[in-house]
Amino acid sequence: MWIDTHCHLDAPEFACDVDAVRKQARRAGVARGVLPAVRGAEFPRARELACRFDDAYALGIHPLYVAGAADDALEQLAAALAESVSNPHLVAVGEIGLDYFAPELAREPLKTKQEYFCREQLKLARQYGLPVILHARRSVDQLLKALRQIEVPGGIVHAFNGSAQQARQWIDMGFKLGFGGACTYERATRLRALAETLPSDALVLETDAPDIPPHWLYRPSAERAAGVPSARNTPAELPRIGAEIARLRGVPVDTLAQVATENSKRVLSKLIV
Ligand SMILES: [Zn+2]
Repeated sequence: MWIDTHCHLDAPEFACDVDAVRKQARRAGVARGVLPAVRGAEFPRARELACRFDDAYALGIHPLYVAGAADDALEQLAAALAESVSNPHLVAVGEIGLDYFAPELAREPLKTKQEYFCREQLKLARQYGLPVILHARRSVDQLLKALRQIEVPGGIVHAFNGSAQQARQWIDMGFKLGFGGACTYERATRLRALAETLPSDALVLETDAPDIPPHWLYRPSAERAAGVPSARNTPAELPRIGAEIARLRGVPVDTLAQVATENSKRVLSKLIV
């Protein structure tokens, strides 16, 4: 049994066949998915799908959506959380975080705006006692600093792609690290070394569907230019990603699945498995 701790089933890429996509993943052994909303307009969809599929959801404003966020976006989030907090499917605040990789977010005025949104959302997580699902791109130090000031009950650093030292810092903060398609690439040597050596209680699995395709779905840019479309990443890929990580760690697949499930339950304490 597998848990996909990060899949955007509410994304437009799945609008026409989300039921079939979820069914296929369930057949592949993905018992639960966690659907992190990325902006206010998608809160109802994430909640509706999580309830329909007996999955889980999170509510938050992703740093890449801060630019387009309405003036009252944070009030909308606070209201949605107040309404959802008694919903057993709501497990976290997310996807939130900081992104200094995107050039426009690394300069003013959006730099200050994304930092403000991040801090306010951490405060909401603290207020509701919810863990957070974090997007951290070139922002580890800033996020760790914010989390020292605004204490939340842990969370997941999704699509982790940092150094061993950064991994240690997150683990010391009580966070789990999300591993997915990125570590299926031979050339991702640092990430694969980390997937191999990370303490087993720190690891959770994710697909980030429809993004971050594993290597077997990836089409190089030359092929895409020639008209071969990149295959869509879906939660059904999770068992194969998990098998790759189990192989790197030298443990049986079942053991890895069990450990990752246990870790997911521990960090997302409301998650029902
Ligand atoms: Zn995401």
